[in-house]
Amino acid sequence: MYILVINSGSSSIKYQLFPKDSDQPLCSGLIERIGQDNGQVTHEIFKAGAEQRIKLDQPVKDHEAGMQTLAGLLTRPDIAVIGSPDDIVTVGHRVVHGGETLTATTLITDEVKSKIKALYPLAPLHNPGHIKGIEVAEKLFPSATQIAVFDTAFHQTVPEKAFRYAIPDKFYQEDGIRVYGFHGISHQYVANEAMTWLDKPEAKLITIHLGNGCSMAAVNTGRCIDTSMGLTPLDGLVMGTRSGTIDPSVLLYLQQQKGYSAAQLTELLNKQSGMLALAGSNDMRDISKFYQENDPAAMLAYEIYTYRIKKFIGAYAVALNGLDAIVFTAGVGENDPLTRELVCRDMDILGIYIDSAKNSSKERGTRDLSADDSRTHILVVPTNEELAIARECRRLTAGDHRSA
Ligand code: ADP
Repeated sequence: MYILVINSGSSSIKYQLFPKDSDQPLCSGLIERIGQDNGQVTHEIFKAGAEQRIKLDQPVKDHEAGMQTLAGLLTRPDIAVIGSPDDIVTVGHRVVHGGETLTATTLITDEVKSKIKALYPLAPLHNPGHIKGIEVAEKLFPSATQIAVFDTAFHQTVPEKAFRYAIPDKFYQEDGIRVYGFHGISHQYVANEAMTWLDKPEAKLITIHLGNGCSMAAVNTGRCIDTSMGLTPLDGLVMGTRSGTIDPSVLLYLQQQKGYSAAQLTELLNKQSGMLALAGSNDMRDISKFYQENDPAAMLAYEIYTYRIKKFIGAYAVALNGLDAIVFTAGVGENDPLTRELVCRDMDILGIYIDSAKNSSKERGTRDLSADDSRTHILVVPTNEELAIARECRRLTAGDHRSA
């Protein structure tokens, strides 16, 4: 009996398979460039004694073909990790946008699917891919329970003073324009890990998710009270290719003076901005190399990237009225000592002092980088969104219908 976790995007499907009662995945994979000629499937098996990585270069016509490839790999006789698709009892789907109506992990019904579809205007890049993944999974694994876990759900405890924009009320009432926040599965997972690590359920935490997308959350006693992304995942921190917070007049200027269309602005701010625009790459490994070589653009890019994070730390320490730990996670947060060093520099006011040796150590896993005289813990907690989704599925199917 297994739980299959699916993260179905617009042109890719990520997956991981867990035994129903274990946190150790049996396999994981990524199906990329769906709908293009140069599709690629990477399938990795972790099962003891059968470890291997398979790479297939093959066009994947659509999501249905992608999911069929996945089901085929799970049962292919030479590398099978399950006997038949019926061995999968639960499929857990990551859904980016649950809006205000889908506020907790839920069984997927026709009504839930309609609600996810109704949110297409707010998440045009994400929710359509999720629906495709759900509909194909229903066909391929008909005996499984389908469950949706939402990236917005963790932020539903953010109070109105933090989630409303200062624009006329009708835009909230009629169009649902408000802060939703994203990466909630990750923020909740690392916050829980940090509370356990600190052995302090009432901890005041700032979680800092730095991947391709970047966001922060202020978490008090396990409840999110503020977060840096907004109506969409474009707001807040500087990201790989997204600008983060920007004066809205910049858009008006570009539209009125430079003739940019809405589509061009969307492309500019989502795909051509952030570190890519500042440093010529959106991969922090490259940019950190350029920084060490004293490349002025890379140095400025790092300054801008980390200064924005520092400002949010200041804001959230005030929102929380205290601070036990800052928690770094995701690709950059877990692996880039330079980002952590620059974020923690000149933070005496919050008693944040990083230990350079611990920061540059190659250690993995949850760890504390704070110096002995640091008042605030500086934690690194590897995120694991797939495991968090599998746990949510387990919790829901065990009959506990409360939100975690
Ligand atoms: P996402 O899940 O948002 O696609 P990840 O959490 O995998 O992203 O993070 C991707 C980012 O992590 C990339 O910008 C990559 O450069 C960065 N990254 C990964 N490993 C390292 C490393 N060793 N040093 C610096 N940055 C890293």
